[in-house]
Amino acid sequence: MLGLGLIGGSVLRAAVAAGRQAFGYNRSARGASEAAADGFDADTDLHAVLTRAADTDALIVSAVPVPALPGMLEHIADWAPDCALTDVTSVKREVLDLVTAAGLQRRFVGGHPMAGTAHSGWTAGDARLFRRAPWVISVDDHVDPAVWTQVMHLALQCGAVVVPARSDEHDAAVAAISHLPHLAAEALAVTATDVPLAFALAAGSFRDGTRVAGTAPDLVRAMCEANAEQLLPALDELLERLSAVRATLAEHGSVAELVEEGHAARTRYDSFPRHDIVTVMIGENDWRDELAAAGRAGGVIRSALPVLDRPR
Ligand code: NAD
Repeated sequence: MLGLGLIGGSVLRAAVAAGRQAFGYNRSARGASEAAADGFDADTDLHAVLTRAADTDALIVSAVPVPALPGMLEHIADWAPDCALTDVTSVKREVLDLVTAAGLQRRFVGGHPMAGTAHSGWTAGDARLFRRAPWVISVDDHVDPAVWTQVMHLALQCGAVVVPARSDEHDAAVAAISHLPHLAAEALAVTATDVPLAFALAAGSFRDGTRVAGTAPDLVRAMCEANAEQLLPALDELLERLSAVRATLAEHGSVAELVEEGHAARTRYDSFPRHDIVTVMIGENDWRDELAAAGRAGGVIRSALPVLDRPR
């Protein structure tokens, strides 16, 4: 594990709880010593950790924010270039481009566990964070079946359900369901600040609608700014809908259209079907396309898929 913050620290805890041998690097001595005090194998010496990863043919999991990735990838390329590599970063295209630029694409399979809290650092972590949470694993054209399988096992052992997806499709989806809600929450929080008495009256709607505005600003910026290409059209659509409801409210005293559509959309989400992906064999012809299609249709992997002996 490279980075023992909320997500990296939770993966380390969950992996060890599942019986895996796992060790980690953390930049700050404080995070590393907190992890060590809790009984985990943690170090601040990146060279030592990566050399050990190379010697033990470990699966490396990067859990640092996007701005820290180029430097981290450079070190991996120097000291552990042949290790299988995955990540937990909230954007996938930008990470794939950085990994490719670092020459590490061959053994890389991107990942994104869709779980978190508004807190940061080792002490915020929890071995149960990923239980039943979707964990996206990228099925881009280059991905190696053996590495994909390793990442699938890690996610399942952490208690997650695996959602296979292409990096670009992942980014468009998280723009709509994560990055846009973050910006909307920030805007809602700021808007209430300007209204006298608002905080005194705030209850459920405000608390739920602004919850993610409690996330560390650096992390929100890193997610949103690294996904600008997909976030901009999503923002445009939201602004269009808000402008339209403003116009109908001003001209006709009605918000009916947006409210009816919004309620119907939320109801569709509540009853969105999830089915188990069981028929795909990793490594067979077109396995990446089949998994991407199954993920798009709401399929999840709950128990490890079989792997072809000699992947094509
Ligand atoms: P965090 O702040 O709790 O942990 C960040 C970790 O990165 C820390 O260990 C920190 O020491 C390390 N780090 C930061 N800059 C570094 C640098 N320059 N060099 C080396 N290490 C550095 O944050 P987190 O929530 O665990 O986020 C980590 C990753 O997980 C991010 O890429 C984020 O996109 C992703 N993620 C976050 C959430 C969430 O809800 N917070 C959910 C899913 C994925």
